[in-house]
Amino acid sequence: MNDAAATPGHTPPAYLPSWPSSSEQPAGPRRDPAEEASGRPRRLQYPPAPEPLPVPVIDNHAHLDFRDGLVAVSTADHLDAAEALGVAGAVLVGYDVPSSEFCVGAAGEDARAKAAVALHPNDAPGLLAEGGYDQALARIAELSRDDQVVAVGETGLDYFRTGEWGRDHQRRSFYDHIALAVQAGTALQIHDRDAHADVVEVLTDAPQRPDSVVFHCFSGDADLARICNENGWYMSFAGTVTFKNSHQLREALAIADPQLILVETDSPFLTPHPYRGQPNAPYMIPQTMRVMAEVRQDRLEQLCQQVMLNTHQAYGQWL
Ligand SMILES: [Zn+2]
Ligand SMILES: [Zn+2]
Repeated sequence: MNDAAATPGHTPPAYLPSWPSSSEQPAGPRRDPAEEASGRPRRLQYPPAPEPLPVPVIDNHAHLDFRDGLVAVSTADHLDAAEALGVAGAVLVGYDVPSSEFCVGAAGEDARAKAAVALHPNDAPGLLAEGGYDQALARIAELSRDDQVVAVGETGLDYFRTGEWGRDHQRRSFYDHIALAVQAGTALQIHDRDAHADVVEVLTDAPQRPDSVVFHCFSGDADLARICNENGWYMSFAGTVTFKNSHQLREALAIADPQLILVETDSPFLTPHPYRGQPNAPYMIPQTMRVMAEVRQDRLEQLCQQVMLNTHQAYGQWL
């Protein structure tokens, strides 16, 4: 680790166009350069590095194959910048077969990373309607047995992007992924967008559930947090918890069982305030952790320690 990785107040050098390009850059999809809601062009500069964390944590949900910004960044460069700021490692999360293969491969090459594999709830309906689902799920099942895989996900329900027509398909895929996580003995990472009640219903109804259930980018209110508390389901908070209008989310965080709190970036998405809309990366976790500690009125050190412990409980210890 050296100063080149990250200095607080400056964008880490690997995220600047002047950085020598690496041959290991992932060739994943590219994030839309326009704002999701308004269609306005986004700022494509990566934000300045926050102050480092006093105690390391792990980013339990990142898409490092997904390109954003003005330069492609290698997994090693992402993890170096993060490590310099107290983010010791990351769970790299797949959303289709190529990205899941990327995550398993990248985790195999870097001890700081582990992988999660799945077909995303926004992709499953198309595969089920047009064919190819069984073959894709079989490949995910195969990957889920790899030593580098600590979770099946992201799976779940998304009623925001997928319309009424895809709901039955999403439910079927969600049940299938729950079964895969049980078989592989891994955690389950859930994507829940505008579908809280139905996600809870499927989880409750499934014949078997994995020991660790994680709501990635937890987006519920205090009521959903209470349900998670009662069931021992992990709540992973992303940059959304720092957004000005996220009052209900902060209420949920404030009452969450401390043993069930995790942190993530969902990079390159959900960049914390005041950099909303710019590209995100695991090195930005300290920005979110500081807001989380404030909301809970916890000491930052103490919350970091707890989140690291929870991450090991949820996925097993690798760092
Ligand atoms: Zn998601
Ligand atoms: Zn994600």
